[in-house]
Amino acid sequence: MSAAPIPREWVGLQQFPAATQTKLHELLGKLKEEDVSTLTILVMGKGGVGKSSTVNSIVGERVATVSAFQSEGLRPMMCSRTRAGFTLNIIDTPGLIEGGYINEQAVEIIKRFLLGKTVDVLLYVDRLDAYRMDTLDEQVIRAITNSFGKAIWRRTLVVLTHAQLSPPDGLDYNDFFTRRSESLLRYIRSGAGVGKREHGDFPLPIALVENSGRCKTNEHGEKVLPDGTPWVPNLMKEITTVVSNGSKPIHVDQKLIDGPNPNNRWKMFIPLILMVEYFFVVKGIRRAIQADISNGKLDDWEQRYRDLVGSKDPVDQKGSSAINRKA
Ligand code: GDP
Ligand code: MG
Repeated sequence: MSAAPIPREWVGLQQFPAATQTKLHELLGKLKEEDVSTLTILVMGKGGVGKSSTVNSIVGERVATVSAFQSEGLRPMMCSRTRAGFTLNIIDTPGLIEGGYINEQAVEIIKRFLLGKTVDVLLYVDRLDAYRMDTLDEQVIRAITNSFGKAIWRRTLVVLTHAQLSPPDGLDYNDFFTRRSESLLRYIRSGAGVGKREHGDFPLPIALVENSGRCKTNEHGEKVLPDGTPWVPNLMKEITTVVSNGSKPIHVDQKLIDGPNPNNRWKMFIPLILMVEYFFVVKGIRRAIQADISNGKLDDWEQRYRDLVGSKDPVDQKGSSAINRKA
């Protein structure tokens, strides 16, 4: 058992422009009012989408290794910082996909890493400038659902990086954003098993991020999105909104990690299957027999005998011995 390390002072907070610092302090104050003194953020998504860069942008320090060439390794990394009685934990994870498939080993390592921890918010990261979804997206979404349960998607903020882009084909930025988000949300809902009627319970808000050093800034020196929104405070605001959306944080315990045992899940249905069998099969047969009896239908050999001797009932005419003689 390893004791949690004493978190370091959040010095990165002072690296932000004063305008951003003010907004961040306001948000921390609001969280404190709601009795939230610790925030644990889990960051997941495919490789190379900007997870580590986003972690660094939030902390304001280079804490996670950023790599253009997906040599991430398998281990998650947790960074903890404190500021005025508030603790921020942010967990960066590897990309899960290897050679076109989910790396189950990486998934297991992440689960074990999270054992005993409580996830307040999942940042599901992808790029804004990805033009189609594929089975890899679905695999990552399913892996997250299978690992932590469907409920984690109630605690999710979708983060789209590379937000400073010029949409292709002369598309308007907002139209492009809308289309991109809708297709991503469709995949998430399908991979998470969120039905139409549950949309309200899984709001899945989206925040835009531009981690590039070439991101435009406003007059206060804050990095801004194409519409002028300073995205760091906006991202933190969206995170606090998820925290107070009324859903429960995800406590990762052994039971959650083990998940429902497929054998036991089947056993649950056995009495039901037997009942269905009884009603449809057994009752069905009985009904058919009774119908035959009331319709006067007889066994095949008896019918043949009647055909031979005429329509009179052989039993009534000569007693049961008549049939026996014939046979
Ligand atoms: P990860 O594999 O998901 O952790 O992705 P990284 O954070 O390591 O980023 C992968 C590459 O994308 C690096 O070269 C980053 O510099 C770059 N990158 C990440 N986020 C952004 C972004 O928002 N805009 C741009 N232009 N590049 C980014
Ligand atoms: Mg990374």
